[in-house]
Amino acid sequence: MPASVVIVGGGLMGLSAAWHLRRAEPGARVVVLERAQVGAAASGASAAGVRVMGRDPAERALALASLGRWPELDRELDGATGYRRGGGLRVALDDASWRAVPAWVAEQRGDGVPVDVVDAGDARRLAPEIAAGCPGGVFCAMDGQAEAMPTVQAFAAAARRAGVRLEEGVGVERLIVEHGRVVAVSRSDGRREPCDVAIVAGGTWSPPLLAPHGVRLPFTTRALQMLLTEPARGALAPVIGAFDRKLSFKQLAGGAYLIGGGWPAHIPDEAANRWEVLDDSVQGSLAVAREVYPPVASVKVARGWAGLEAFTPDDLPVLGPVPSLDGLLIAAGFCGHGFALAPAVGDVLARLACGRDAREDLWRGLRLERYTAAVRRGES
Ligand SMILES: Cc1cc2nc3c(=O)[nH]c(=O)nc-3n(C[C@H](O)[C@H](O)[C@H](O)COP(=O)(O)OP(=O)(O)OC[C@H]3O[C@@H](n4cnc5c(N)ncnc54)[C@H](O)[C@@H]3O)c2cc1C
Repeated sequence: MPASVVIVGGGLMGLSAAWHLRRAEPGARVVVLERAQVGAAASGASAAGVRVMGRDPAERALALASLGRWPELDRELDGATGYRRGGGLRVALDDASWRAVPAWVAEQRGDGVPVDVVDAGDARRLAPEIAAGCPGGVFCAMDGQAEAMPTVQAFAAAARRAGVRLEEGVGVERLIVEHGRVVAVSRSDGRREPCDVAIVAGGTWSPPLLAPHGVRLPFTTRALQMLLTEPARGALAPVIGAFDRKLSFKQLAGGAYLIGGGWPAHIPDEAANRWEVLDDSVQGSLAVAREVYPPVASVKVARGWAGLEAFTPDDLPVLGPVPSLDGLLIAAGFCGHGFALAPAVGDVLARLACGRDAREDLWRGLRLERYTAAVRRGES
């Protein structure tokens, strides 16, 4: 059992790891250092979709384990994440997409993802105001949605109650390594925070902490845009996506539509976590949302924002130990789909830090070594 763990970053991954750690080891000293405020980056900006449908095979086991946790999460955290399991519906809008649906479904069902083909009538029963002429799509009853900032706050409060020391406004400037092992981190207030294990969960700002130790994280930063409308009538239960369109679409409890799907925003200053919404992206996102769900045309956009997220070459996160440095774990690079994974990622990190059954079956394909092996093979 590690006597002390320092976690870099108060996003969902860092907070979930901290809470799981104290739950597993009430005697451990667990410190989260967040340079801004909890949820200041991707986690607080997220669309908060909780989906397993459409994930890469390397991420499916982790997603299934995580989605299995969500229905009980409010009780476990003694908080309110806003989670509800209304299913996910990905619609086809043309014949080519519709013809590809059976193979897409069969491939996922082989891994235990509970997806079903739905015809036009079923799609309309699930989402009565979906575009006329939609030939059908795929439904996943296990998918759902939560609310981003309430989820972050629920994890932060649970971690604090469990005895985690969570400090906001304190950055980690570097890892202190002695004899190949991380022994402490250097804080932005000049102090040294000793640790037996450090967990880097610094989102898209993780690479500079590892680079001085010869570890290259192949991340690129993108800002993802979200739009929130004024409240609309109706109550749409599933989260809607569409084949061959950039769309994630849901209706919140108060009636507003939340629209995302990977539309880019501009990043004037990455280090400072600054973004600017782009008019082209706003118009593009609204056009797709109206095409798929026509009632969008009759409501005004109330607000737009973006969140900075790290993307990797294979669109999969990096999770697990860092082979060349003892006492170091990483969880970063979630490529716009990490929110749903937070419960399982935190559990895996806590198990790894405690040296207990680390459930490698859940994250084998997400190890950092997949890139070092690619470099050895001469791939970029
Ligand atoms: C607009 C948007 C929509 C999304 N929609 C979905 C969705 O519907 N479903 C889904 O599953 N996923 C979604 N995601 C992805 C998901 O939100 C992220 O993958 C997840 O929140 C990443 O969490 P994190 O803790 O790794 O990173 P972050 O939330 O970015 O947290 C990292 C934290 O580390 C801090 N930090 C960085 N460096 C340091 C340092 N040196 N010292 C101290 N602190 C540091 C930062 O300030 C930040 O708070 C979306 C993301 C965005 C941006």
